[in-house]
Amino acid sequence: MERKLASVQLIKAVSPIEGADLIELAGVLGWQCVVKKGEYKPGDLAVYVEIDSLLPIKPEFEFLRKNCYRKMPDGAEGFRIKTIRLRGMLSQGILFPLSIIPAGGAIAGGCGIGAEVTAALGVVKYEIPVPAQLAGKVIGQFPAFLRKTDEPRLQAYPEVIGEFKGKEVYISVKCDGSSMTVYRHGGKFGVCGRNYEYAEDSGNSLWQVARRYGLEEKLAGSPVDYAIQGEICGPGIQKNPMKLSAPDLFVFDIFDIPAGRRLDHEERLKLAGELGLKSVPIEGRGIFDYTVEQLLEMAKGKYSGTPSHREGIVVRPVKEAYSAVLQGRLSIKVINNDYLLSGGE
Ligand code: ATP
Ligand code: MN
Repeated sequence: MERKLASVQLIKAVSPIEGADLIELAGVLGWQCVVKKGEYKPGDLAVYVEIDSLLPIKPEFEFLRKNCYRKMPDGAEGFRIKTIRLRGMLSQGILFPLSIIPAGGAIAGGCGIGAEVTAALGVVKYEIPVPAQLAGKVIGQFPAFLRKTDEPRLQAYPEVIGEFKGKEVYISVKCDGSSMTVYRHGGKFGVCGRNYEYAEDSGNSLWQVARRYGLEEKLAGSPVDYAIQGEICGPGIQKNPMKLSAPDLFVFDIFDIPAGRRLDHEERLKLAGELGLKSVPIEGRGIFDYTVEQLLEMAKGKYSGTPSHREGIVVRPVKEAYSAVLQGRLSIKVINNDYLLSGGE
């Protein structure tokens, strides 16, 4: 589901911050956000703007300039909302009164809880540039017969907790790299990044990794056309927090193309193993019975053998399941707040 960066939301709770006279904490969805004291009370509606948003340059947002001004690689400028700590309290996202919605910024379906106002406010997603070794000659859009990789964030959909409850789940470590998809379809082999398919080029890490594992030959030898999806990590990709000496692939999905279906956890581990590929690290498996707070604690930790905060975890059922809350596959990422506070994007 497309991420709703700015939306009308209910203030669920307001609580004081010890030693602070001017600010307090507001709870929205699964997030907590520092606000001016007295500005909101539980039950109020407000506009909530998530982390990773870029607010437009407009007078009403100028107070953010000092700490938040950013220019993106495509030249777009604005004010970036990220995770901060104020008076020792985590603050994620920013709240505005409903009056911030421009008059005439008509919102389909009115201004009720969940109404999206991203476009009405001129908010866009703050995107970090694609690393040079993952770019190259684009030969097409991401193939329509595949599915792009994406994971919704726990705090934006706290009601998924109810859907997970009682299900057998596995928890994998979120590898901080870039999305990679390799497929064979109708006799053709292809290599894609997150949004595009790329021509073969030895300088491109995606192709390098695909060749090193002999994936074209291995997939050609399979009776079924598969797409292998994973995270490519290594030098020059993000900050290489896993401290790899060469690019490598960590598989998190295998898609059976003719059947239009993702393999279940065990099937995927088995096939990845047969193909000689690494999986994302699997941290545990069990019956789901966690709260948002517990999951946020579980997301913390370092990448094995490194001093770097890991990006977080991904929670999925052992057997693929549909989520009405997510309107798609049941799967959620839980980002490590220590990683966000230490400068992770
Ligand atoms: P957002 O959706 O929050 O705007 P984003 O789309 O940039 O952010 P990420 O935060 O990188 O996405 O999270 C989703 C991505 O995480 C997936 O597309 C995948 O490439 C990557 N990923 C890394 N490790 C895993 C894992 N263990 N399981 C699933 N996906 C993983
Ligand atoms: Mn996403």
